[in-house]
Amino acid sequence: MELHELAETIRNVPDFPKPGIQFKDISTLVLRPDAFREVISRLLARYADAGLDAIVGIDARGFIFGGTLAYEMRLPFVMARKKGKLPADTICETFQLEYGTDTLEIHRDALKPGQKVVIVDDLLATGGTVAAVARMVRRLEAEVVEAAFVVELPPLNGRKNLGAMDIQVFSLVEFMVD
Ligand code: AMP
Repeated sequence: MELHELAETIRNVPDFPKPGIQFKDISTLVLRPDAFREVISRLLARYADAGLDAIVGIDARGFIFGGTLAYEMRLPFVMARKKGKLPADTICETFQLEYGTDTLEIHRDALKPGQKVVIVDDLLATGGTVAAVARMVRRLEAEVVEAAFVVELPPLNGRKNLGAMDIQVFSLVEFMVD
């Protein structure tokens, strides 16, 4: 499947969850087995020889793609979850949203020093979510090889913001919405 066909499987929902937001809905992508497989095979091609030790997925849509990639690569899958969901000893990072803040956590024993990871989420907007996860990965002395997304919204500058933290970005499709 070509990338422009993959892009067509993602539904645009205007004014969700707030007026002015163009919500890029990947639920329609994963309804299409050919599109879901295309995403995973492209991520596999990118990371097969990257010497990774683990995949880190972000709650909740990052679990779909990150979990499947980890399964296919036979790698450990680390969950970055919304605050209060992980039962054992955690570390957390808080980040800015458009209105207010949000907090993500990972289990302290989920990563070991020196491990090389890719962080996976469905969509890159400002990069604030992934930046928070990258800070946790680094606090555990693991290395962020790259952050991978199905969708990137270039006008929101996530690539530039993550670049300032020395985090490389890979995405499959771009939409020029702000
Ligand atoms: P950010 O931290 O600004 O990069 O925002 C990325 C997170 O918010 C991801 O977990 C996305 O799932 C979600 N998100 C932000 N903007 C959108 C959008 N326009 N459509 C769908 N999801 C979005």
